[in-house]
Amino acid sequence: MNKFKIIATCAMGLEAIVAKEVRALGYDCQVDNGKVIVQGDQKAIVRMNLWLRCADRIKVEIGQFSALSFDELFERTKELPWELYIGTNGKFPVIGKSVKSQLSSVPDCQRIVKKAIVERIKLYRSEGADWVEESGPTYPIEVALLKDKATILMDTSGSGLHKRGFRLDQGEAPIKETLAAALVQLTNWTPDKPFIDPCCGSGTIVLEAALIGQNIAPGFNREFISEQWQWMDQGIWNESRQEVEDLANYDQPLQIIGSDIDHKMIQIAKGNAQEAGFSDLISFKQMQLKDLRVNTLNGVIVTNPPYGERLGDKPEVEQLYRDMGEVFSPLDTWSIYILTSHPHFEQLYGKKATKKRKLFNGFIKTDYYQFWGNKK
Ligand code: SAH
Repeated sequence: MNKFKIIATCAMGLEAIVAKEVRALGYDCQVDNGKVIVQGDQKAIVRMNLWLRCADRIKVEIGQFSALSFDELFERTKELPWELYIGTNGKFPVIGKSVKSQLSSVPDCQRIVKKAIVERIKLYRSEGADWVEESGPTYPIEVALLKDKATILMDTSGSGLHKRGFRLDQGEAPIKETLAAALVQLTNWTPDKPFIDPCCGSGTIVLEAALIGQNIAPGFNREFISEQWQWMDQGIWNESRQEVEDLANYDQPLQIIGSDIDHKMIQIAKGNAQEAGFSDLISFKQMQLKDLRVNTLNGVIVTNPPYGERLGDKPEVEQLYRDMGEVFSPLDTWSIYILTSHPHFEQLYGKKATKKRKLFNGFIKTDYYQFWGNKK
């Protein structure tokens, strides 16, 4: 098995950024809703897991076919070469989803797919037993039905890629690491410029900026489920982890600051930065936004302030947006990027954005307001 249809899933709205990351790794790709598709080898699977900052998971497609009946789903699943994909004694839990399809009962689809795989594997296991032992590594399977077409996938990541492996603690409203990385990559920041998040919470955005700034792969500190698989070449994992080490630029100096009004959040952010090995690279400070003073040029501010969606928070949040407008307005060489769902943000901030981009923060529809600085 050396060619795969590899699917990097991602949040709606981040496809183009993931595609750019994929191309930077040297792979051609196609973009679809919530996913980016690559025809690639094992090394591509491994490198995409290690390097993609904005993708949720890396899956491989095992098969795709029309499935109008349970019989069809069963037979077509059984035709797939499962003996190549599931190692000896491998566990293979099946999850599922169904959208606009005749086969609408997801639990039934999961059961049928599971049974079809068991039947197939039995043919290839010599012991002739009537059941299939599942005591080894896990090979997570997914059956996704869309308009009567079934796609059978295997998840190579395990836990979602937003889990970088160093978040010890989080605040009440942490942004997902994958979205934080996208916010940074949508700016004109380069590692030689100052970077500030003045509502940094648990530090997600500044930590992603530090990873990007030193070209550290987001997966450097975690494991992936497919590292355990029988058909995965351990040598490729070793080589690719070595590449991660070789390409990291630990000598790149960074000027990254995170501040927040809440001293508890600053403690949490510091703990997370320490766990990631970034204690010396990011400065954290407990401070209200109103007190922010900046004396450098050409920097970048990226922030995810509270949105004021909870009852009672609104007046405070609206005052915060007015404060932002005032504090940021003298910074004419800085580029400023703010993510919020507040419908009157620009009015409160007192300026029209150079550009707006629609993004989802989980299920919340937000706009990413961009105010580009004048170059000095
Ligand atoms: N991106 C962060 C979450 C930010 S939530 C993360 O991933 O953890 C918004 C943050 O804004 C909260 O931590 C809150 O304490 C902070 N905040 C609210 N009002 C503020 C103000 N006036 N000045 C500075 N920070 C403020």
